[in-house]
Amino acid sequence: MESLMFYVLLLIAIIAGWLLGRLGFSKPTRTSASESDLFQDYFVGLNYLLNDEPDEAIDTFIKALEINSETIETHLALGALLRRRGKVDKAINVHQALLARPNLERDFSNSVRLQLALNYIAAGLLDRAERLLKEILDDGGEAKWDALGQLITIYQTEKEWQKAISCSSKLLKNPRFRKDPALLGGAAHFCCEIAEQHLHNKQFTQVRAEIKRAFTFERKSIRAMLLLANIEKREGNYKAAIKELLRVRAAKPEFISQLLEPLASCYESLSASGEFEKLLRAMVLEDSSTEAALVLAKMVSARSGNAEASDILREQLKHAPSQGALIELLGLQLDGVDEDVASSLKSLLNLVKAQAQGSSEYSCHHCGFETKRFFWMCPSCKKWDKIRPIKELPNRQAGNASS
Ligand SMILES: [Zn+2]
Repeated sequence: MESLMFYVLLLIAIIAGWLLGRLGFSKPTRTSASESDLFQDYFVGLNYLLNDEPDEAIDTFIKALEINSETIETHLALGALLRRRGKVDKAINVHQALLARPNLERDFSNSVRLQLALNYIAAGLLDRAERLLKEILDDGGEAKWDALGQLITIYQTEKEWQKAISCSSKLLKNPRFRKDPALLGGAAHFCCEIAEQHLHNKQFTQVRAEIKRAFTFERKSIRAMLLLANIEKREGNYKAAIKELLRVRAAKPEFISQLLEPLASCYESLSASGEFEKLLRAMVLEDSSTEAALVLAKMVSARSGNAEASDILREQLKHAPSQGALIELLGLQLDGVDEDVASSLKSLLNLVKAQAQGSSEYSCHHCGFETKRFFWMCPSCKKWDKIRPIKELPNRQAGNASS
């Protein structure tokens, strides 16, 4: 379907360009000999298209179409097509030739600069892309909004977070982007990146300032809440830390696995293990959290023995089957079993464990990338907040699907 669209679009662009080119034949730039060459080139190009060789077709059409004020848009589009097909060097040549033309209209020269910058980004030549995009910004025309978006991509790649925030703030002044969740979420992450650098250097005041700034972009930024909880815990404000961690649970229960360790340590510091157990039971019941069930089973097993802990895991497996709970339950069942059975059960358990260790735990909901580690930005498609645990919470997942 996509390739059909490609041919249709290409043909429309070419025929339109050709007709416009024909209208320009009264100009003394072409002789009748070159006119027949043009026809020849068109038939060669069409032949390539019909033979499923679009790249050769694009080349032929670009060669055949004289650049003039009527065909310049077609050249711009053909260059972009080349880039999308991975022929970045050729795309750069086409757009550079356009930009070198004297007396280009201001809007048009910005469009060419933008396309050329996209080529440079695709080729990894970020310095050149940045220079062109800044020229568009300095010009102040409508193309500056697109240029800002591309500059954010560049600064994000180069980890120049401050510059990325500054471009995001400028872009957010445009009513068209003011409520763009990806833009707002991205800006909050840029602040969190800086906050983490300060955290690394133990500059806690600066960490708090960046967290505050992150919340101005995204009030429910999970990453900022986790960072704030971290700071509160480090500074001994355990109740405040717990409050932040519970805000994360309310906003995104799929993050429970990341909350359990800091929550356990805060409740321990407050000598409130009973409170923690109550919370874990709520997480198991309301969020079907396997991770909470595992921690709860461990606590209960240490206090009251394996029977009650096994019940918790069995109940959990009924609601949310998972390898983690199964492995834990099998482990508990080994106690009190006679030696021969225990040894064969153990080897079975090791097999299941090995399989669990080899499988990915997170995946990107945008591009499908799978990973054992959690990332805020998908390493593959570079989108923020798209990496989620593979084993989603069943009751919440159903809720999301209907929303
Ligand atoms: Zn992705």
